[in-house]
Amino acid sequence: MNLKKCAIIGCGFVGASIAFSLLESGLFSEMVLIDINKDKAEGEAMDLSHAIPFGRPMKIYAGDYSDLKDCYLVIITAGGIQKPGQSRLDLVNTNINILKGIVPNIIKYNTDGILLVVSNPVDVLTYVTWKLSGFPSERVIGSGTVLDTARLKYLLGEHFGIDSRSIHAFIIGEHGDSELAVWSSANVSGLDLKDFCNLCGKCENSQTLKNLYQDVKNSAYEVIKRKGSTYYAIAMAVRRIVEAIVRNEHSVLPVSCYIDSHYGISDLYLGIPAIVGEKGIEKVIDIPLDESEKNALISSAQILKKVINDTGF
Ligand code: NAD
Repeated sequence: MNLKKCAIIGCGFVGASIAFSLLESGLFSEMVLIDINKDKAEGEAMDLSHAIPFGRPMKIYAGDYSDLKDCYLVIITAGGIQKPGQSRLDLVNTNINILKGIVPNIIKYNTDGILLVVSNPVDVLTYVTWKLSGFPSERVIGSGTVLDTARLKYLLGEHFGIDSRSIHAFIIGEHGDSELAVWSSANVSGLDLKDFCNLCGKCENSQTLKNLYQDVKNSAYEVIKRKGSTYYAIAMAVRRIVEAIVRNEHSVLPVSCYIDSHYGISDLYLGIPAIVGEKGIEKVIDIPLDESEKNALISSAQILKKVINDTGF
């Protein structure tokens, strides 16, 4: 496996934005772009390649599945997108059918790489990818709630008027309508969020954090309503996950990972903090949850489980 080689399957808004963010990252020396629309993959590869003199030497090309044979990381972004008003779960059947065409082609050439799923509904599709691939679960990862967590940090940072990187808080569960904010352990550089709230004195009422959570949850709907799709922030979220893998950083990220006997949940993929490194998921972390968070996580898991059962997987 070539650790310096990645592939992106699906070169729409999300795939192309990820390709651009990875080009800028300097993490790879080779990147294969695959799309059912070959012209699109070729056009993106040409456009990206013209930027190489401003970055670092790299081979970027439109390829096919046989190019995956030594590819360390395969990123899947192919799929339909939410139309205004649609939830991510509404995409499930269309995107599972697309996966059924993609995953068997990947494993024909590559059974040793890491698969990173971004297409929605990401938790369900990561589970289906794991099933279809036969890979060990630690090498099948979904982007999970890494993006949602960034949205939470951004909005808290804006609210408090501080650097969002000084805020430590997670969104966990489904990347979708049943996700939850883990307020009980949220903190600003070690100071409990509630204590920081008192210090800050900006909140007019206790409803503020609840509204902020709603804004996080509805972020994608709001962006989609205005510009049709979301892609820059997810591209940076994927770059962060990829960096943790390729640089073997052992970073704790709320990726969609396989859960078995955590919080009373089993045989499911959902967004939970996990240690991510060169081998994929190293360990799922049981962060402390209060009773209401635990119940909300279990409800989120039940929703995902029902969707998966209905698909026959
Ligand atoms: P898009 O319509 O712009 O691109 C989808 C691409 O997939 C198209 O280029 C299409 O030709 C390609 N494609 C379709 N079927 C294919 C197949 N069988 N093989 C190869 N390529 C195929 O959509 P987008 O905006 O890029 O979004 C892609 C996916 O990412 C959607 O499912 C979207 O919901 C999801 N998404 C996920 C997150 C997240 O946080 N996980 C965030 C944003 C978007």
